[in-house]
This record gives sequence, structure tokens and C-alpha cells, in this order.
Amino acid sequence: FAQNAKDEAGIESILKQMTLEEKIDAIGGVNGFDVPGLKRLNLPLLKTADSPFGVRRDSRSNVMVGGIALAATWNPLLARETGTQIGRDARSRGVSYSLGPGVNIYRSPLNGRNFEYLGEDPFLGSRLVVPFIEGEQSQGVSSTIKHFIGNNSEYWRHTSDSVIDERTMREIYLPIFEAAVKDAKTGAVMCSYNLVNGEHMSANSKINNGILKGDWKFPGVLMSDWDATYDAEAAANGGLDLEMPFAKFMNKQNLMPLIKSGKVSEATIDDKVRRLLRTAIRFGWLDRPQEDNSIPRFNQEGRKVALQAAREALVLLKNQNNLLPLDKTKTKTVAVIGPNGYYTPVLGGGSASIAPFETVNFLQGVSNYLGTNANVTFARGINSYGNLANKVKFDGGVKAEYFDNLELSGTPERTEMMPSMAKGMPFNFADFSTGDTEFTLGSFQFQKPISARLTANFTPKMAGDYDVFVQQMTGFGDSNYRLYIDGKKVRDTWEIPIASIEELSLPLDAKSHKIVLEYKAQGGISQPLIRVGIVKKGEWVEQNALELAKKADVVIVAVGFDATNETESWDRTFSLPPGQNELIKKLAAANKNVVVVINSGGGVEMSPWIDKVSGVIESWYAGQEGGTALAEILYGETNPSGRLPITIEKRAEDNPTFNNYYPQKGIHVEYKEGVFVGYRGFEKNNVTPQFPFGFGLSYTNFAYSNLLVKPLNDGRFEVSFNVKNTGTREGADVAQVYVGSKKDSKVSRPVKELKGFEKVFLKAGETKKVSVILDKRAFSYFDVNSKNWRAEAGDYDILVGRSSAEILLKGKANLKSDMTSER
Ligand code: BGC
Repeated sequence: FAQNAKDEAGIESILKQMTLEEKIDAIGGVNGFDVPGLKRLNLPLLKTADSPFGVRRDSRSNVMVGGIALAATWNPLLARETGTQIGRDARSRGVSYSLGPGVNIYRSPLNGRNFEYLGEDPFLGSRLVVPFIEGEQSQGVSSTIKHFIGNNSEYWRHTSDSVIDERTMREIYLPIFEAAVKDAKTGAVMCSYNLVNGEHMSANSKINNGILKGDWKFPGVLMSDWDATYDAEAAANGGLDLEMPFAKFMNKQNLMPLIKSGKVSEATIDDKVRRLLRTAIRFGWLDRPQEDNSIPRFNQEGRKVALQAAREALVLLKNQNNLLPLDKTKTKTVAVIGPNGYYTPVLGGGSASIAPFETVNFLQGVSNYLGTNANVTFARGINSYGNLANKVKFDGGVKAEYFDNLELSGTPERTEMMPSMAKGMPFNFADFSTGDTEFTLGSFQFQKPISARLTANFTPKMAGDYDVFVQQMTGFGDSNYRLYIDGKKVRDTWEIPIASIEELSLPLDAKSHKIVLEYKAQGGISQPLIRVGIVKKGEWVEQNALELAKKADVVIVAVGFDATNETESWDRTFSLPPGQNELIKKLAAANKNVVVVINSGGGVEMSPWIDKVSGVIESWYAGQEGGTALAEILYGETNPSGRLPITIEKRAEDNPTFNNYYPQKGIHVEYKEGVFVGYRGFEKNNVTPQFPFGFGLSYTNFAYSNLLVKPLNDGRFEVSFNVKNTGTREGADVAQVYVGSKKDSKVSRPVKELKGFEKVFLKAGETKKVSVILDKRAFSYFDVNSKNWRAEAGDYDILVGRSSAEILLKGKANLKSDMTSER
């Protein structure tokens, strides 16, 4: 945003009236979620709220689709409307800083926060984040784009060091932030918890002062993530403007001596206060109350946008023999089966989660749609993990020993006998800790670190293969376990917490087996949960579900993750949660018309069942209106137009980051795949994915023709072509423009990269001309020697298609001379 002279003069005049102590007080949060005001000078207290998909403050809210779902719409207009509605919801609650959007790149399906982000491609993410932020900020609310940067996994999020070379950073991990700063003029940026190249991001001067505030000239506020500040001097000098949620480090006690000794200058503090004032003036927060109660909190405009985004987000991945769209007159009995059928998660878990005023789950969606014209039956299909853990009969119960340290050392603080290996309920795990709290922050109760040893004997009724699952939860704290069976360690996550629920399969004979679980929890905001269940392979699925499946004309299987197992502060598995593969396979054996609907923040392993089912729909976390959107798509009232913003691999090891995802040395996670993330990596490695980037089926067909690549006078190119709807129903396609790499480039470049797209809405038989502009940057790589973007002279392939794997038109662009552009 333009810094105008009048505002800058206003800032100076306020600054002059502030004492040094008052300035320091201004740069640390209060009350858990507020930015302090200053009564003496009539500066108001400002509210922040987590609000990437709805505003979690003071009441329930509309819940829009999750980030990756929004990315799957490939629709910048919807991104703008979504941002606008969240902005309105923020205003109706008096929120000034909206803590979103989240935009970290999808490196691997394992990251538990992928559902919040915009997929694997920096160009797609940039083109969506700009209108989102413009929409939100048009309401007088500052966006806070997060998490800057390198937060691409959730294990060890405070302590891991993302080691990213500069070219990779500039080409893959920075562009969405760059677009948010330069094009959308975001008011605020939130730094991540982790380190990048050896320095915590809240103190990373090279990136914060060098790139964000230097190269990009960001004039706004860089705030810390909640408890992501680790040192007063380093943060003050490293570019952090606002420490949240409170001034644990950047307080008077620490900063006054540092200022006195010259280690931190007063000018540095002034700059932070200026940024806070500049943002407040820019958004009008000093001139009007931020709460606008003419906007209803249960905002009907927002509901409409939530529904439209859900309609465009769902991706139809498989549709064998055109089973879909279903025919209302032929589906008299529809079975909705699966744990996510009724408890359809609107979002994943963690700080992004919001309670909706009202929601339509998948069962309700299908049932509402069909009304009295059909019977919609429902079964959960597999029991809950809590019930399954409670049902395991251990010989003589379970002995639990609790320790007041993380290493099971010394004598146990407490010992008890339990009927099962299950302790705690989600967010109500009262007696696992002693109940003492380390400190309280608002209503959050911070738990003491603990460890525990659970010992039991288990005698299976018969010999066979068994699935053993371990489920853990802590509110925002790490927990880890080691599992021993008959003295042999069968699983060890003692160092790196892998996923909040995992299973392993092993053969057990019909004698008594000793099971020992060693467990530690670092403490979080809720008491920890731990459960171990043992289920015989083949016995996961409840009989009534199979009976309903046999009687149904079609079976909708609702599987996937939810807020307990795909969540902030935890990673997740690539495979579906325990028992779900078996559920799908058994239902597919019972009925030939099975459509699998998945809730996930990214790719899941489909190879165990993909060939056995007729249909697959990726529904991400589709917000409060997901059930309605699903029903409309199943019955063809909405023609699916969602396309994958990620590549889905066949096997976990096919992901380009597979060998680099966990730290290779100490805390260091080297991003060795470099720029070859997502389709860039699959194409380089010649690996065929299960479903390619950009892919999604429609109920109509599209034809592409007349490609023209026209050089413009200013060095840019216009790429134009026609898209025709050749089928019999209305639909939208996402036309994608990729630029191929120059054959003899000085650096190793991806085979091709997305540099333009347009979602084209077409009536049956209709043709539209699409035109996309390619600028210098579309051809450039980041040249680490000259520190500039460089486009080498020569020929580039221009590839137009429907996904990264379906290129329909090919042209060429010739760059006459080398071009550079500033960073
Ligand atoms: C998350 C942020 C969030 C903040 C406030 C942190 O744990 O990483 O995304 O905005 O909490 O709730």
C-alpha cells in the first residue's frame, strides 16, 4: 500500500508522544489474542482472530471450505468472495487482524496442516491468494499471511530447521508471500515457528529484513506465531514487529537493558511501532469502531459463498462406466456408509478449526437432496477408535505407571490398573496428568510433561493377522511412543512424532502376548490421550454395514481423516486411518456401485482399492455446506469442476520429498529435492502418479484448438486458444498453460511449470477464447549469482492442457535476448 505523506506525518506525531516504555509495551500482545492499545493517546486495543476459513471469536461462525479445497476450485473470483465474506465476519466481531490465509507449499501428503494451505504450486497459490486478501482487506480488516516460511511439516515445529537453498526458496516457497505483499498489499505477515537455514523465523534477519522488508519493501507488521519467539535481542533485530500472544521476550525487562547497552537501537523499536500505527491508520482502526453490528454474525451471503466454493472444490477422480451422475429415478436405496458420513469434518483440527452455526454433513446432504423419493440408509461401518480400544480384552487388565519426567525414569509417580489401553477423551483427558498446570493462558491449561508405561497381556481368540493401532492426542504438544510385543520393539516414534493415529499389522498366535507401550507427552493445552486397539484383520467392518450395502442401489463410502487425525501440531499417515481400506474393499465386494468420498488435506494411498470401486471423489474439508455440494455432484445438478492443486502419488515413496522429509542430521531437514516439488519432481523423476496435478473429471467433454503465441511489444507474450464444450451439459474446465524448460538452460529446470490458467464456464456446445499473458517472470529462474530473476534467450515450449499430464496444444515462444528482473 502506498505510504502517503499525511499518514506518515500522523504516525510521527503519535510516535513523538510515546515514551520508550510505551513503545515497548506496544509490540507485545495481550489477553491471548489482542494487540494492545494506549488509552493515554486514544489508541484502541485491536482484536486478532484465527480466521482462515471463518472467524473464531466471540461466537460460532460460517465455515468456508479449507484452503486446499479453495485451491481446487482454481477460481480467483471465488477466492475473492471467500476473503470478502471472512472479512465481513471479522468486522461483525470487531476483529482487526485476521490470522490467515495460510499458504505454505504442499511438499508431502504427511504435513498435518496441508488442509489449510493452497497446494503444491506457487503460481496457482499466488493467483488465488491475491484476490482472497484483496477481498478480505476491502472490509477494513488486515490479512495476516502465514506461516513465513519453511513450515512444511508439523513434527518438531518449534525446533526443526528447514534447510532451503536460495533458488528453491525464491522459486517455490516465497512466491505466494511475495504476491501477497507486492500485489495484494497484505497488512501483516505471521512468521513460522521453525528455523530456516539455522535461524528461527522470528529472528531471521536475512529473510525478514533482507527479503520481506528489503527486496519486497513490506511496510506492514511482521507478527510472531503464538509462542514462536525465542530470544529478545534476536527477535528485535531480526525483523519481528509484534510478539504474540504476549511479550514473553520483547518486554521492558529484556529490552531496556539491551537498548541501554546499544545491542538494540531505539530506532529499531520505533520502526516496529511505526508499522503497527501505519497499519492501524491504513485500515481506519483509529477512526471508527471495528465492530460493525450491521453485519449479521450468521451471515447468509457467506453461506452462499461457502456452498459455491464447495461445489467447485470437489474433484471427481474416477467415474467408471459413467456411474455418475446418478439417476434419481434409479437410485431408490442409497447407503451412506463410513465414519465420515455423519461426522463429516468441516475442517481439519487445530487453530484453524471453527464451530459452524449450522452444517450439512454427507448423510444429510444426500438425504435432503432425495427427500422422500428414496431411502437413504446409514451405518458408520467401523467402530470408533475409542470403542475399539475399550473393547480389547487384556488378560487381567493393564498396568499403568506414570512418571513426572519424559524418560520413564525413577520410581513412578503413580500406578493404576486399567481395563484397557485407553486413557483420556479428546480434550478431556483429566486424570492422565496430575492436574497441575505450568501456567494458564486464557482458558488454555498448559500440561506438565509426563511419561507412562502401559503393560498388559493379550491372548487372541485365534491365531491370525492383527492390526494394532496407536492413537495419541495432545493439544499442540508433541507426544511419542514405543511399542513392544513379546519383548520386541515393533514401533518407535520416540524421537519424531509421526502421526496421531497409526496402525501396524502383524501375525499373532493364540497364546498370551506381552504388550508394552512406552509413552511421553511434552505437555500442550489439553491433557493427553493415548489408546491402543487390536483388531483382527478382516474384522474391522460391522455386519450391518455390509447388509445395507448389499441392499443398496449405490453405496457412498465416506472415509478419510478428521480434526483429530489431520490437524495442526501433528503429521498424518499417507494411508487412510486404520480400518478404512478394509471397509472400502468389503463394501466394493458387496456392491458393484461404490463411490468413495474422501476427506483429506491432500493425497491418500488409493492403491489398495482404487481398481475395485466405480467412483472416487476427493472432497477435502469442504466446510459447512459440503454435504449439499456432494449431493448435487452425485446427482449431476452440479457438474464437477474441481481440479487437483496437488499430485497424488501411487506409493508414499513416489513423492519427491520421500527421502528428505524427516531430518537427515540433528534438527536439519534439508530440502534436497530443491525446486522439484510436486509435479516438478514427478516429471523429473519420470514417476507416474495415481492422479496428476491439475486433474479432475467432468460430466461433459472439452476440446482445445487454435493456439496462438503472440509476442507483445513489452517482452511479454499473449497465449490464446479456444476451449469448446463438446458434450451435452453445461460445465467448466480449467485450462492450464505451462511453460517448458529451455533445453540448454544453465541451471536444471523443471520439465514444465504452470504459468497461467483460466477456469472457463461453458454451456453445451459453446466455445470461448481464452487469453493468458506470460510475463518475464514466467520464463525466469532465480539466478543466485546475480541475485535476480533471469530469463535466458531462446525457445520455450508453450503447453496448454487440462492437467500436467494431458497437454492438448503445443506452441513456442522465442525470447530474443536474456532478460532479468529485480527480486
Ligand atoms: C498457529 C497459527 C495461529 C495461532 C493463533 C498457532 O498455533 O500456528 O496459525 O494463528 O496459533 O491461534
